[in-house]
Amino acid sequence: MRLLEGRSVVVTGGARGIGRAIAEACLEHGGRVVLADVDADAAEKTAAELARDGAEVLPVGCDVTAETDVENMVARCAEAYGSVDVLVNNAGITRDATLRTMDSDQFRQVMDVHLYGTWLGTKYASLRMRDQGHGSIINISSISGKVGLPGQTNYSAAKAGIVGMTKAAAKELAHLGVRVNAVQPGLVRTAMTEALRPEIWQEKLAGVPMGRAAEPAEVGSVVLFLASDLSSYMTGTVLEVTGGRHM
Ligand code: NAD
Repeated sequence: MRLLEGRSVVVTGGARGIGRAIAEACLEHGGRVVLADVDADAAEKTAAELARDGAEVLPVGCDVTAETDVENMVARCAEAYGSVDVLVNNAGITRDATLRTMDSDQFRQVMDVHLYGTWLGTKYASLRMRDQGHGSIINISSISGKVGLPGQTNYSAAKAGIVGMTKAAAKELAHLGVRVNAVQPGLVRTAMTEALRPEIWQEKLAGVPMGRAAEPAEVGSVVLFLASDLSSYMTGTVLEVTGGRHM
């Protein structure tokens, strides 16, 4: 069964890591993907790698904190594929520091990419989705938005904010046929986490009942579920993908 046959999917931060895995899961299930990333060259390279066996992947350079970029990203999807059926707000950064050493730029950059970027994407995609009468938006939060993690006052606040935004948007958009849900991954093996010191990895893993980090594809499959009609009666929900951590 192909869950997204012919549907268009926009993935922000799609050039690598979890975003790439989400794109791969959607393509495997017949989706047509706009791979958006601030690193336009990386998006192009990844799109070329994924566009095999006739898969449709359109790379688009997009900084999710730039309104015109986000508007253009959504417009490019509609032009190329005739609709915007799914948006995954995945682009993210970390700027970790303790509260006492974090500067205002580190705080604002993280807020900008996660909160403002997710809001912009949701706004422009939902305008299209309203006209179509259907759509699914998936926001990538983090377990740090549920429990708060030391060294991440900025990131934890932004990821918790994404949960609030998801629920507010779900309530606003439900009558238009647009569903909005969020995913909270725990520790996932990507470039974002590979820079962590070995002792921090061990400390984090010690709190995971399943005893290992997730592969990006294990987040991709949950996003695929939320994108598809298998989750047709779900909106405003937050799914944890943590191997049992912080349950
Ligand atoms: P990653 O660093 O491997 O990839 C992030 C991608 O986002 C990159 O391709 C980057 O170029 C892009 N990006 C960054 N800023 C952008 C911007 N302003 N506009 C557009 N694209 C931008 O990270 P990842 O681990 O794959 O994380 C993806 C998402 O999952 C993020 O939202 C992250 O916060 C979240 N997350 C990750 C983990 C984890 O353990 N890796 C856990 C929980 C949540």
